[in-house]
Amino acid sequence: MSKPLLQVKNLKKYFDVTGGIFSRKVGEVKAVDDVSFDVYEGEVLGIVGESGCGKSTTGKTLLRLIDPTEGQVIFNGEDITELDDERMRKMRRDMQIIFQDPYASLNPRHKIEKILSEPLIVHGIGTKEERKQKVKEILEVVGLPGDHASRYPHQFSGGQRQRIGIARALIVNPKLIVCDEPVSALDVSIQSQILNLMEDLQDSFGLTYVFIAHDLSVVKHISDRVGVMYLGRMVELANNEGLYDNPLHPYTRSLLSAVPNPDPDVKTERIILEGDVPSPSKPPTGCAFHTRCPECMDICKEVRPEFKEYSDNHFVACHLYE
Ligand code: SF4
Repeated sequence: MSKPLLQVKNLKKYFDVTGGIFSRKVGEVKAVDDVSFDVYEGEVLGIVGESGCGKSTTGKTLLRLIDPTEGQVIFNGEDITELDDERMRKMRRDMQIIFQDPYASLNPRHKIEKILSEPLIVHGIGTKEERKQKVKEILEVVGLPGDHASRYPHQFSGGQRQRIGIARALIVNPKLIVCDEPVSALDVSIQSQILNLMEDLQDSFGLTYVFIAHDLSVVKHISDRVGVMYLGRMVELANNEGLYDNPLHPYTRSLLSAVPNPDPDVKTERIILEGDVPSPSKPPTGCAFHTRCPECMDICKEVRPEFKEYSDNHFVACHLYE
């Protein structure tokens, strides 16, 4: 394996809950609660979990679009949680994000040329003419005609707008792209086109992705490793084969049982979880999954399982493996 480009150590992001007429703090939501993982240069790390599990907050915290409460995010050997605004701004050239909703993330009043030139201007790249040329080139790289730069976002389809979102991330030549549910808002037929494009770009530009999704089937083909999050915590992390062929955590098994198998002869038994995801402001004691786990034991209600390596590079947080 190559060297880690990104190291996330004991990352926490807690949001205050306020109440009463003085808006005093009455509690906190542990959106990300002690998460650690590495991302290696040139790999795609998928992060998967139900909505509210903290995966998007983790993604935004990696780029300090949200400041962490505690923990370290080491990018290229430098702890970015300690950088001042100016150094962080420079660092963002290497760390970009693609958002879930391409329409909401593109200013509807600006032409594509202005939207795509903006990151170049922020980072002081090129003359006006060079930027114009670069916008045209990057549109072609993501499969759109270069002369569409003179159009507005509403003149494109959802899939085309996501191509523009990808172009905006790519135009500054980053090392790492956090992809925050980049295909969730798209039709299924368009999803695979965008996933194929992202895979091609990763190969051509030697990119590293953190690819966030709520569905294990979306990240299956694009990811080298996959981490599964539940209620702000990472519960399993393994390479692709390890996770899909030998899922250890009962939560991962239930997520996988919901993924349709293309082979009609293979019958998979769907594991239906009881109850809703508990509130992250009142996470259950012990293992956060114990209120829904079909294999819950007494110890699970009291003791939080450690996130440990079970076999070669296969990590899990579950008392079944201790
Ligand atoms: Fe289930 Fe216990 Fe494992 Fe949690 S620790 S996933 S409750 S078996």
